[in-house]
Formats: sequence, C-alpha cells, structure tokens
Amino acid sequence: MTTAETFDVIVVGGGPAGATAANDLARRGRKVMLLDKAGRIKPCGGAIPPRLMRDFDIPDHLLKARVSSARMISPAAKEVDMPIKGGFVGMVDREDYDEWLRARAAASGAERRSGLYVKITRGADGVATVHYQSKDGSGAMESARARLVIGADGALSAVGRQEVPDADKTKFVFAYHEIVRAPEDGGEAAKRCEIYYRGNLSPDFYAWIFPHGDTMSIGTGSAHKGFSLKGSVQDLRGLTGFEKVETLRREGAPIPLKPLKRWDNGKDVILAGDAAGVVAPASGEGIYYAMLGGRLSADAAEDFLKTGDARALASARKRFMKAHGRVFWILGMMQYFWYKNDKRRERFVSICRDPDVQRLTWEAYMNKELVRADPMAHVRIFFKDLAHLFRLVSP
Ligand SMILES: Cc1cc2nc3c(=O)[nH]c(=O)nc-3n(C[C@H](O)[C@H](O)[C@H](O)COP(=O)(O)OP(=O)(O)OC[C@H]3O[C@@H](n4cnc5c(N)ncnc54)[C@H](O)[C@@H]3O)c2cc1C
Repeated sequence: MTTAETFDVIVVGGGPAGATAANDLARRGRKVMLLDKAGRIKPCGGAIPPRLMRDFDIPDHLLKARVSSARMISPAAKEVDMPIKGGFVGMVDREDYDEWLRARAAASGAERRSGLYVKITRGADGVATVHYQSKDGSGAMESARARLVIGADGALSAVGRQEVPDADKTKFVFAYHEIVRAPEDGGEAAKRCEIYYRGNLSPDFYAWIFPHGDTMSIGTGSAHKGFSLKGSVQDLRGLTGFEKVETLRREGAPIPLKPLKRWDNGKDVILAGDAAGVVAPASGEGIYYAMLGGRLSADAAEDFLKTGDARALASARKRFMKAHGRVFWILGMMQYFWYKNDKRRERFVSICRDPDVQRLTWEAYMNKELVRADPMAHVRIFFKDLAHLFRLVSP
C-alpha cells in the first residue's frame, strides 16, 4: 500500500483568503498544496481599498477602474455625492484577480491542484488525509495528507461544516449581480459607485452599480428569502437606463453576516475568509478581510507547525477581532438600524451629506482603521446622529 504524499498545509479554496494563506506559507518554505475546484468566477462587485493593495502587494495593472466618488441614492431619489479626497476605491475583475493571486502563490512554491474537496479522514497516527475529486481531467478520487488544513472554501465551506463546531449556523445575505457591457460613453456613472438605499431594491441591504472599465456590476443583496433579487436588478437597470445594454453574466452567492465564534477545530483545521464568516456588515466588503484572514491563518499555522501546539490556531481569530471586531460591531448596528425602512434610509442618506461623515467614512474604508486623530469630528457626528434619531421618533 502506498502512503499518500504529506504536506505541511493543504489550503482548500483558491480565492483571496486561500491564495494569500498559501502564498505566505510557501514563502516561509512550507510544503503547501493549494486545492481549488476551479471553473467558476466568484460573483463579486470587486471593490477593494488602497490598504489592501499596500498590505498585499497588489499591482496597479490589476485594477479595471479607480473610482473617486460614490453617489448615495435615497428612497425619494435624493442624491448625495461622496467624493474621495486623497484616495480611491479600486475595482478588480475577480476572474483575473483570483487567478493572479493563485499564480503568485504557485510562483512562491505552493503546489496548485484542481480538485473538489470532499472530506477529511484521520488514520491511526491521527494525521489528516484530504480526499478530493480531481478536476485535472480524470475525475478520479485522490488524497493527500497534511499536518494542517486551512479551509478557505468560501461562504458555504464544506471544510467548516464538517470540521468546526457550529460553522453551519451562519446567517447570510444573498447577493446577486449582472455583469453588463458598459456603454461606449458610460458618462459619469462609469467613474463612480452608485449605491441605492430603497426598500423596493433591497428591504435590508442595498443595491449597487459599480464600474469595471468596459463592464459594470449591477447588483443587490437581501437576507429575505422571498425577495426577488433578479426582479430588483431588472428594476434597477430599468431605472438607470441600463436595461438594453448587453448582459455578459448573471450570478449570485451568499455573503456571511457575522464572524464565526470559532475558526478552528482545536486540532488540525482552521478556517479563513468567508468560510470564517468575515464580511463587513452594512457594506458587504469581504476581499480585504478574506486576505487578512488568510494571512492570520498562515501565521497561526506557522506557530502550530513549529510548536505542535494546536492552541496557536485560535490566535488568528483573536488578532482579527482585536483589529476589526469593533468596526464589525458598529457596522452591524448601522445595518440593523438604518436599513430597516425607507424613512430611516432617507435619513441615512441625508446624514451622508455631512462632510465629517464623508471624511471619516472614506478614511476608515481606505485605511481600515478608525480615525483617532480628530476626536471632535466623532463628537460632532455623535450629536448629529442623535438629532437624526430624535427626528425619527418625533416626526
Ligand atoms: C455579489 C457579491 C458582490 C460582492 N462585492 C464585493 C465587493 O465589491 N468588495 C468586496 O470586498 N467584497 C465583495 N463581496 C464579498 C467577497 O466576494 C467575498 O467576501 C470574498 O470573495 C471572500 O473570499 P474567500 O477567499 O474567503 O472566498 P471565495 O472568494 O468565495 O473563494 C473560495 C474559493 O474556494 C473554492 N472552493 C469552494 N468550494 C470548494 C471545494 N469543495 N473544493 C475546492 N475548492 C472549493 C472556490 O472555487 C473559490 O475559489 C461580494 C460578494 C458577492 C456575493
């Protein structure tokens, strides 16, 4: 009987989280397999902040567009422009972006394999064996052993559901978008992100139009199972004059709403990215957090491999929540409160007119840090928020 090949780490899933984890570990000289089922482009608006490009060495040529403003549109069609001073939102195409990340991991030494993860078993020595169906042509079942498995296989993570307690209890927003050909003269809409806060386009999230150079992403999200996402995108396209432009792709996927309470199984599996539930509430931003999760899981894996102490795996979640837990909490409250009905959405969009709100929002988005340098701006926003709230309860 032949023993399956043994890796230090098998990373399941080659999206932003998995490709980052594989790259970081391969660069440290670890023997890594990057397993991805391939063949599907991740449905995604593709918006990334400058901090991501700095922290993860993303070259400019991967950007399809640099957006310098967002337009918020209220239920009563009031428009508030939020120009970005001294920065931008980058727009990537996930087909090219994810492939570039996987190729970088391979160039760093990770072994890429195309295959569908099926399950993990453990033999008498307790070492994990990952079983997968090859997608390299034969379709045969194959297996490989690993001291550690990183589950970065997205929102409905099979690794998570099988290996980490309560990973199946996540709640989701379902997001759907259509990639359309941008009109020759896309005009202003081709340079900015448009964000629609309207109950008929999303009863609990928002709808969007994001420019991607010669294409655009027109989409929406909702946690309400009965809500027609496709109908909403059709309405938005009608509303904005994009109903006749060519549709290139129609696709949707769940977005997890909350970081899981545990990311590891206390033994030999750790989750990263959407598999760990790390998408920011209210905005649905997940690419930066997935890559950070991938990096922190790689750091935790390295400690585990060096010491053999599985308690090291818990450090990924601890470090993540220390850096971003507060922002996730604030965004969760924002989504819960301001996305509740059209009256509140109307107020929310009008709050966005405030220069302090605009500056702090963009700085927090671009740099992924709460701005501490200007405490008075926070105080001003706090009192303005209160005023809005009181107008809500006593109209
Ligand atoms: C419609 C939509 C719009 C979005 N817009 C934005 C946006 O504009 N900006 C932003 O920051 N975030 C956005 N997000 C969120 C963002 O796309 C995710 O948070 C991000 O892709 C998470 O990265 P990940 O690597 O954790 O998972 P994924 O990107 O989902 O990657 C998972 C990988 O695992 C592989 N895989 C899955 N199952 C298996 C298996 N069984 N075996 C082997 N491989 C497997 C898949 O092929 C895939 O490559 C959006 C999400 C949606 C649905």
